[in-house]
Amino acid sequence: MSNERNHVAMPAAIEGCLSGDRPMSFGPAERRPCLQATIGGQQGVAAVTVGGDAPVRVQSMTNTDTADAIGTAIQVRDLAHAGSELVRITVNNAKAADAVPAIREQLERMGVDVPLVGDFHYNGHKLLRDYPECARVLDKYRINPGNVGAGKRRDDNFVQMVEIALEYNKPVRIGVNWGSLDQQLLARLMDENAGRTAPWDAREVMREALVQSALDSAEQAQSVGMPANQILLSAKVSAVQDLISVYRSLAARCHYPLHLGLTEAGMGSKGIVASTAAMGTLLQMGIGDTIRVSLTPDPGGARTREVVVAQEILQTMGLRAFAPQVVACPGCGRTSSTVFQELADSIQTYLRDQMPAWRERLPGVETMQVAVMGCVVNGPGESKHADIGISLPGSGEAPVAPVFIDGERSVTLKGDAIATDFQAIVDDYVERRYGAGAA
Ligand code: SF4
Repeated sequence: MSNERNHVAMPAAIEGCLSGDRPMSFGPAERRPCLQATIGGQQGVAAVTVGGDAPVRVQSMTNTDTADAIGTAIQVRDLAHAGSELVRITVNNAKAADAVPAIREQLERMGVDVPLVGDFHYNGHKLLRDYPECARVLDKYRINPGNVGAGKRRDDNFVQMVEIALEYNKPVRIGVNWGSLDQQLLARLMDENAGRTAPWDAREVMREALVQSALDSAEQAQSVGMPANQILLSAKVSAVQDLISVYRSLAARCHYPLHLGLTEAGMGSKGIVASTAAMGTLLQMGIGDTIRVSLTPDPGGARTREVVVAQEILQTMGLRAFAPQVVACPGCGRTSSTVFQELADSIQTYLRDQMPAWRERLPGVETMQVAVMGCVVNGPGESKHADIGISLPGSGEAPVAPVFIDGERSVTLKGDAIATDFQAIVDDYVERRYGAGAA
């Protein structure tokens, strides 16, 4: 197959577009149909649906000591205010389990109704049994089938946790992880693989073990009586291609909602890029019902960063809108000042900070596009495409900054107060366009 214009072999889908009248245009694939789970909804906690026709949810996890009820509640509040629709806390020992009801009470006092997910490993069955208030207050349990014991003990512990979830009517996430893969299952699959005429690569066997561990555990939970629509699955790995492969397989082989996340994604840009590459690819295929970005925070850095990144992945892909977006040019030799960079940064921060107050009062404001451009080359054009934009003066240009509103040139700003003047214009625009009196 070749394309006559450039003699390059083209994939069939692209070839089809080039040969027809239709312009090339590829959007995200339709979401994979799956069951819908509801998390929360009891005792003054928000009910959050995941899967089915629900939007792709954003979730996060605390990094405080859960036994510190006040400190944990404050971080849960911060994550919820940043936009996390579910927050997971580790429940790793008796003190942590004992603190869970106090965390929920503290959240109630702070007016925070985000559902809480308990993350359990080796001793989860004991903690849930010994601390019934913890079991009652949590809205979902995360169970790692690779970390609940071995052999018969594994089955007994897993079943105990599922039975407690049933008793309290809680959904469960069966969350397998590359780092704690069920070693017996892996050994069995390796043996089976050795008997193949064309054995798979060892990495393929490990990927299959992850998928089978999740699917087998879900089947086991259902055999104990857990309804299928109260089960969510995840299978986290730390390499992008492994994650894509594992989730494609899971998506094709089950109808449970899928929780996406690249585990141990790393720090800074590496963690953000790896998470975006992996989750963006899967979301484009219609795979994924809730996402968590596992960033290692910078020392002293805000835990809420992972929520912002998750939202930005979904918003930049056009899947959801959370806060107005600022389009800014990268800058080049045509602009020597840092004014446009500072303005882009301050206006993005300002817009995001306003969202808790704006969200209810100004519906639709989260879809607004603001452009901050560095010079006249692309500035006016890009600003006209945005809802509201400003084109700052480049090197050698007149020290004026035209503002564009809904594609039309409006006022021209000049002087030292361009940033505050522009912010006031944005505020005014937001009220007129999205406020109570908007058409
Ligand atoms: S808009 Fe101007 S300053 Fe910004 S990147 Fe383009 S040419 Fe450079």
